Amino acid sequence: MILLPWLLLMGEALICLLFCAYSCAGIDEDISQYLYKTAKENRFVYEFTDKSDSRPDFIYSPRYSNGRVVTYYAHWCPHCKHFIPKYIDFSNKIHELSQKFHVTIETFAVSCVPQAKICNDNKIHGYPTVMFYPPNSANGTKIERSDLHPQEIFQMAGVSTVAEEVDEKAVAVMHKYSSKNSEKDNDIPPKPYFIHRSRSETFNDAHISFDFAMNTAIFTQTGPLPEKPKKALREFLLVMRRTVPLNSSMQPVVRDLLNNFEKIVKGSAALNEIMAKHPPPKPINKWSQASSQHGTGYTAGLWILFHIMSVGLVQWNQFAIDDEQKLIPAAMADIQRNYIENFFQCEVCRLNFLSDFDACMYDRCNRLATTVIGGTIQQLIQYPLWLYETHNAINVRLRKERIEQNFEKENFTTQGEVIWPSFTSCPTCWPSRDKNRWNELEVYKFLQQSFWLEDLDSEVLRILTHGEIGIKSKSPIIYRNGYGDGGGDGFDYYYIGSWCCLILAIAVVWYRRRQYDQRGLHKKIETDIP
Ligand SMILES: Cc1cc2nc3c(=O)[nH]c(=O)nc-3n(C[C@H](O)[C@H](O)[C@H](O)COP(=O)(O)OP(=O)(O)OC[C@H]3O[C@@H](n4cnc5c(N)ncnc54)[C@H](O)[C@@H]3O)c2cc1C
Repeated sequence: MILLPWLLLMGEALICLLFCAYSCAGIDEDISQYLYKTAKENRFVYEFTDKSDSRPDFIYSPRYSNGRVVTYYAHWCPHCKHFIPKYIDFSNKIHELSQKFHVTIETFAVSCVPQAKICNDNKIHGYPTVMFYPPNSANGTKIERSDLHPQEIFQMAGVSTVAEEVDEKAVAVMHKYSSKNSEKDNDIPPKPYFIHRSRSETFNDAHISFDFAMNTAIFTQTGPLPEKPKKALREFLLVMRRTVPLNSSMQPVVRDLLNNFEKIVKGSAALNEIMAKHPPPKPINKWSQASSQHGTGYTAGLWILFHIMSVGLVQWNQFAIDDEQKLIPAAMADIQRNYIENFFQCEVCRLNFLSDFDACMYDRCNRLATTVIGGTIQQLIQYPLWLYETHNAINVRLRKERIEQNFEKENFTTQGEVIWPSFTSCPTCWPSRDKNRWNELEVYKFLQQSFWLEDLDSEVLRILTHGEIGIKSKSPIIYRNGYGDGGGDGFDYYYIGSWCCLILAIAVVWYRRRQYDQRGLHKKIETDIP
């Protein structure tokens, strides 16, 4: 009989535990329908769980001022589960770009079982379906998975209309001859071989050359473009759209050309008409002094465009959420080669470039990756570095030719001076002050400073120091404001529920035990024993 009170107590505790387990199962059932709410790494996907609101503003309000990406899913669908890490990665990168461009795009998830009405209203017939809602609009557009690249979304939100800014500070391409150098060699030209070009001049020069090429170099004969150049042009425009910065003035024109591609390849009139709608930024058709000092400006601007695209490839791949979205460096080189073959009418330039290219010069065939799977940043930057080396080799060859043809005195420039960049503009590129030995990462950083619009603190530099492509932020979990239930905050409800049950069970056992003690029930029972 002495065991009876204990058995009673244990029974009560068991009932309590069963009750708790039942309540927890209720929570579980509810929570299990929401995949993002409990996803561990989620920081920026807001999971909509409010059952009392069947018309949330972020979907229904035409006055919602931010752009939104919404994933509609069902918790039971295997593809939706596989999609979770990609969508979370996507949301992290969207958040990062939002901060860079000062344009907020939010990411949401709607579970279509508990939120069936919302999904029905929006005619969601397959899971997962991703929709983009532009700022101040409730008209969503379905996005194919292959287009779910953070940069594409910012293009859809109209970021490319943001004006390019002159950021003199971040451009370290200052070529100033020190008095020490001038004293050493009286034959050097009075100004450096490559002179300073501001960041906006860099992008304007590229735009003006692109504009010039589209207006003059695509149709060199009447009639529609034959298949081969047509393919070359389309591929070039497609990679250009992905690899020139989002806020470049070239983005709108490239988009327009691609949207009207079948029209523009029919003849120069349609192409020129579209080009006329997007003139380069002012001053129109005037290359910067830095681009026109040794030539007309056109070829310098073309080089600049190629370098921008080469750095853009690294940027694009870095933000991709999926290997399939990434650009393959070797394929990108082929696309630029085909552009030059079909549309660069400087005969000698073209033939020289093509023969070097086809002979795998500068180790092109080995160093440019033919796949993007598992690529490290060191592999990826080989594309801009290969282009850089190709360009420098041309600089050196042209100097030699100028001297041979008596256009230039041998001591007018040194070989080192025509190799870009100079010692003074990038000392770390040449650690031993020897132009035959350069530091790859430092040169890449310098290319990025010179040919990309973002500042030095950009993600790539951070990644370079980590030596890998993926962005893995280690910032602490942050909690979102505004929607009341703290969606996407990383709470583990299973964990909290279990602890509550245990604490409750202990409390009940302790309380009942205390009651028995106070009432002396156990003593009474004890006295009953014969
Ligand atoms: C594909 C191609 C092939 C060419 N081949 C020939 C040829 O065979 N013969 C010929 O006479 N001309 C050729 N040209 C033209 C020639 O290369 C120059 O564009 C022209 O001589 C004008 O030179 P520039 O001094 O203004 O600077 P460019 O060489 O045009 O360079 C433009 C700017 O790019 C930067 N830069 C220079 N070197 C590098 C580098 N290595 N990496 C990154 N940025 C750099 C500098 O800021 C420079 O001002 C070619 C042009 C192109 C686009």
